[in-house]
Amino acid sequence: MKQFDAIIIGAGPAGMMATIRAAERKRKVLLIERNDTPGKKLLISGKGRCNLTNSCDIEDFLKKFSESRNFLRNSFAKFFNADLMSFFENAHLKLKTERDGRVFPESDRSGDILNVLKLKLKTKNIKVLLGERVREIIIKNKKIKGVLTYSRKHFLTTHIAITTGALSYPGTGSMGEGYRIAEKLGHEIIPLKPALSPILIKERFTRDWQGIGLKNVHLTLFAGGKKIDERFGEMLFTHFGLSGPIILDISASAYDALQLKNEVTITINFEPALDYKKLNARLLREFKASPRKSIKNIFKNILPQGIIRRFLEYCSINGNKSTSQITTEERERLIKGLFGLRLTVKGVMPIKDGIVTRGGVNTKEINPKTMESRLVKGLFFAGEVIDIDAGTGGYNMQAAFSTGWVCGDNI
Ligand SMILES: Cc1cc2nc3c(=O)[nH]c(=O)nc-3n(C[C@H](O)[C@H](O)[C@H](O)COP(=O)(O)OP(=O)(O)OC[C@H]3O[C@@H](n4cnc5c(N)ncnc54)[C@H](O)[C@@H]3O)c2cc1C
Repeated sequence: MKQFDAIIIGAGPAGMMATIRAAERKRKVLLIERNDTPGKKLLISGKGRCNLTNSCDIEDFLKKFSESRNFLRNSFAKFFNADLMSFFENAHLKLKTERDGRVFPESDRSGDILNVLKLKLKTKNIKVLLGERVREIIIKNKKIKGVLTYSRKHFLTTHIAITTGALSYPGTGSMGEGYRIAEKLGHEIIPLKPALSPILIKERFTRDWQGIGLKNVHLTLFAGGKKIDERFGEMLFTHFGLSGPIILDISASAYDALQLKNEVTITINFEPALDYKKLNARLLREFKASPRKSIKNIFKNILPQGIIRRFLEYCSINGNKSTSQITTEERERLIKGLFGLRLTVKGVMPIKDGIVTRGGVNTKEINPKTMESRLVKGLFFAGEVIDIDAGTGGYNMQAAFSTGWVCGDNI
């Protein structure tokens, strides 16, 4: 049995940052990770590129979080996007900022982010124990004594951080174990739901569109006929329905609406930059320029090739008709379809398939200035195990790093 100043459970972004920061403060830290390697989820993040943060200002950043805005304000005030970027740049890793402020390593390799973290973990104050899974936290007379692992090893300490992540992509090691451990110590777990999860669609015709991505489209989500969410950006058709950034971003709203037994629909506006008059004029122009061409051929200028046949069927238009034969009524139907292709939401993929989990340790039971539990002295939390989640764009990773840093600064 060995004594440490602090033990951190889980080597994701939150746990690694907490460990590094605590060691900078000369704390003797043990980082325990159940996998044989740290940062398994970080490695697959951002499609292997790791969108580590976003360059937007703090107010816009906070707006991307669902319930936890005020809770995160303190962490962001202490360690925010510029601090995180400096952390990596000072370690000679070049970063780049892409569309909508998304920050990536210049190399497009998440492994480069992980390598910096791994290098910083090689400090004399830090011991990293891999392939060891924490089973429980030992408490005697209301005081933290240490941890017990599944292989029955004990490690002694008075300060512990649970940084075990959430329930999404359990193959990465984040299997919701932190919730069980926290609950046993008296913490409330806000009910878990999928967030940033692909959406299942009732209509079968979109299956022919699998693999086709759309850029610059506008989505509107309706529940019981009422608009409840909308987004502009990129999406993707899949074999089961829809995915891509703006679909993931509306998935939690769709999930909630389905739970209330509402009829949930999505409309896709393929031409959000145009109003009715401009789109009508554009179609008339195209038709006039090529009166003998079939409508399916003309639509190659308007929609991705793979979509056209089914789109025209959706609008009840014979694709072989020449543009000169298209009636005013048919043109109206095409405009209606381009402005609002309507799809019915059948479901949202389960938590395990989502990018993040909504819910987790109740933020009211954690001191936002220190990340220490308000219920158990010496117990800390950081990262996705807490009830924090945001949309796509680097916000979740920053939240894990920021809460991890604050935890390490206080543990
Ligand atoms: C496919 C995918 C892509 C993503 N892309 C992005 C992105 O580009 N940008 C972004 O901001 N966010 C992204 N996210 C979300 C982001 O990865 C997470 O929010 C972030 O990793 C959470 O960090 P964490 O440290 O809290 O938890 P995790 O990264 O989940 O790490 C928790 C660690 O704890 C370990 N652990 C669990 N239980 C135990 C135990 N009992 N004992 C020991 N160890 C344990 C796990 O093995 C794991 O290594 C993505 C998520 C997924 C699934």
